[in-house]
Amino acid sequence: MKAIVHGKIIMENKIAEDLVLLYDEKIEKLLPLADFLPENYAEIIDAAGRYISPGFINVHIHGCKGVDVMDDTPEALALMRQVLPATGVTAFLPTTMTADFSAIYRSLAQIRTAMGVASGADVLGGHLEGPFISEAYKGAQAAKHIVAAAFNRISEYKDTIKIITLAPETLKDYSFFADCRQNGILVSQGHSAADYAQSMEAIATGVSRVTHLFNAMPVLHHRRPGVVGAALDTTVNCELIADNVHVHPALQRLVYRSKKPENIILITDSMRACLLPDGISELGGQTVFVEKQIARLADGTIAGSVLTMNEAVRRFRDNTGADLPAVIAMASANPARELGIYGERGSIAVGKRADLTIFDADLTIFKTIVKGKMVYCKE
Ligand SMILES: [Zn+2]
Repeated sequence: MKAIVHGKIIMENKIAEDLVLLYDEKIEKLLPLADFLPENYAEIIDAAGRYISPGFINVHIHGCKGVDVMDDTPEALALMRQVLPATGVTAFLPTTMTADFSAIYRSLAQIRTAMGVASGADVLGGHLEGPFISEAYKGAQAAKHIVAAAFNRISEYKDTIKIITLAPETLKDYSFFADCRQNGILVSQGHSAADYAQSMEAIATGVSRVTHLFNAMPVLHHRRPGVVGAALDTTVNCELIADNVHVHPALQRLVYRSKKPENIILITDSMRACLLPDGISELGGQTVFVEKQIARLADGTIAGSVLTMNEAVRRFRDNTGADLPAVIAMASANPARELGIYGERGSIAVGKRADLTIFDADLTIFKTIVKGKMVYCKE
């Protein structure tokens, strides 16, 4: 068995300072420091007063370090798995873009292959973003590939897809929601022009979450509350890109005050320019210009982000003043719950997988552990 000593262990409602975390592939025990006998352990990590938290689960990420989920090569996902632990991530949903179906299928096939392979951060399945979206709120998605929703177009990958982002107002009827529910796929409202009434109806019928709240949807208007109004008026889970570019800190505070903390899901929506310096990049076949770490299309539209999960946690904490256990849950327990894997992942508890990350007060990641194995160690 292995041990981590001298860490501040972030539990769901508290931070424990005088416990030793014992683990193999799973978390075996939280032992009082006074009872710890070092000679009994094969490997001991000294956290040196830093935080130990559950590993982050990113349910919306397109790429990083020069690769994209839509690249039709096994190397793309392999590289993401290898570099994401440096940002505290231990599991993620590679996210596809609006594209022609043959390209989406190739990407989903790569995701399916990567699921179940143990190497670096885990691939839990895919997040299908488009092509069933609103052209009016396509954001950085390619308009020419937007099509009407039909479950039979994706049913071959129903085992792989965990979340579908779509515009519910474009559906002919809600049978699509029933097909998703039967297959354990979460329906997420996003890239949507729906008004408040349409959004409330969709939420009552099958939408359980909203994709990057505020982005790629009508602005919140006091007489036209729209998707944002419906999201704030209900208990749906809301993804948030807390990079201070996609959502102003004041609106992050509004979300924090309006929503229960357990309904906020921090994501990055990052693209291949993430973890790279400024320069020219690409998203969904379109050229992206990254300047001062803000990614835009040629027309100025904000494209995906270059945000990392540890930075998202740091910014949301600093912007809202929320306590660290609550913000950590937004990057671990909350996504684990919605994906139905909270029994095994998403918090530090005896019997759960030893998916852990160690960081300081600035959220600089020092070590990341997946299933008991160290997959990242700062220098
Ligand atoms: Zn996205």
